[in-house]
Amino acid sequence: MSDQIEGGCRCGRVRYRVTLDKLPNVYACHCLDCQTWSGSAFSLQFFHQENRFVVTGEPALYELTSQTSGRTSRQYACPVCFTRIYNKNSSRPGFVTIRAGTLDRSNELAIVAHIWTKRKMRGVDIPPDVPSWPEGAPSGDFVAALLRA
Ligand SMILES: [Zn+2]
Ligand SMILES: [Zn+2]
Repeated sequence: MSDQIEGGCRCGRVRYRVTLDKLPNVYACHCLDCQTWSGSAFSLQFFHQENRFVVTGEPALYELTSQTSGRTSRQYACPVCFTRIYNKNSSRPGFVTIRAGTLDRSNELAIVAHIWTKRKMRGVDIPPDVPSWPEGAPSGDFVAALLRA
């Protein structure tokens, strides 16, 4: 039997539930967009099947199409407190990318991979046994790192 794992925004209006046997492995991205969007050193997220993801509270949508790749990113946030919760990308149909810090049990998460480390801030140290890539990772290697452990 799978556990229901839940999360939501800071004010409580938007809540979500994912169906997983255990907490997901999460990865950190140190790219400029993620630093800007999070206001922090890196973003933390995990992939999840869209058909096993239930959201309540009508999140606001911000849609952005990349000039370079032509991919469309749909970003969903709380319309009241503006917490970013998840996004969809036209390059990854059927999946959502969820901001890991919005999980209720975020203190139990493990960061199992880092990407775009060439932009990482000083003072952020990555353990030597955790896979990391200076830019985006080759998708096969990256998925393997996320599925490990
Ligand atoms: Zn909110
Ligand atoms: Zn990024």
